[in-house]
Amino acid sequence: MSELKNKVAVITGGNSGIGYATAEELKSRGAIVVITGRNSEKVAAAASNLQVKGVVADVSNVSAIDHMVEQVKSDFGKVDILFVNAGIFQPAPVGQITEEMFDHQMGINFKGAVFTTEKFLPILNEGASIINLSSVNAYAGMANTAVYAASKAALNAYTRTAATELAPRKIRINAVNPGPVNTPIFEKTGMEEEQLNGFAEAMKNRVPLKRFGRPEDIAKLVAFLASDDASFITGSEYNIDGGINVNPLLS
Ligand code: NAD
Repeated sequence: MSELKNKVAVITGGNSGIGYATAEELKSRGAIVVITGRNSEKVAAAASNLQVKGVVADVSNVSAIDHMVEQVKSDFGKVDILFVNAGIFQPAPVGQITEEMFDHQMGINFKGAVFTTEKFLPILNEGASIINLSSVNAYAGMANTAVYAASKAALNAYTRTAATELAPRKIRINAVNPGPVNTPIFEKTGMEEEQLNGFAEAMKNRVPLKRFGRPEDIAKLVAFLASDDASFITGSEYNIDGGINVNPLLS
């Protein structure tokens, strides 16, 4: 198991789902963890359960990111692990995509992710690891996900270029592309329960391993990429998806 003793780790969107599981995993490996989120009550409850520091910041607001960085800097100094995880899933069919939906989803998933890294860079230690939470949707033509997919594809493109430019500081940056993972993200779309269950069943059947991922599955990969065991890995992407990206013609 990769050691993260005394490394300072910031996890955006750490009060729920994949971020929460990763906070538990990194803490269990010895990291000093800070979680962030946009809802103060949820952040406070999760931080208290996890016994970690919680910071409230909406990543779609660049001055809120500035404030978050200032808080982390004054409490912890420098950062070794930045897990850029905060994100939303807002499905909409092509032809019915509104400017508001576009700006909202891009504003959190892409702009928010980019400015999280941009603003934390001054306080990242040499040898730090940035992990961007993307999605296999970046490469799939799944119906109703055009803007979500584009937000994640854009994040992967940023990741590759940033890897080249951050290498002189020995900062590594990688992307993780999960398939479907069992988290509250789907309920937040506003879909009816019946629709959600149908979606989940259809999705599960498409996954060669015939199950949704667990947040803990993703957390373990993030912990590896955060650790010195991954010291030669940068600019890479990892699908963690039960094989869904293989997309067999016959199974
Ligand atoms: P989740 O809804 O449980 O967690 C999302 C987290 O992001 C929450 O803590 C939420 O507060 C935070 N967040 C959302 N908007 C924010 C904002 N504007 N500012 C700050 N924080 C904000 O969902 P999850 O599934 O754990 O999602 C985590 C990441 O994983 C997202 O980037 C998502 O796109 C990605 N992802 C999820 C799946 C999946 O199937 N669950 C698959 C691929 C990728």
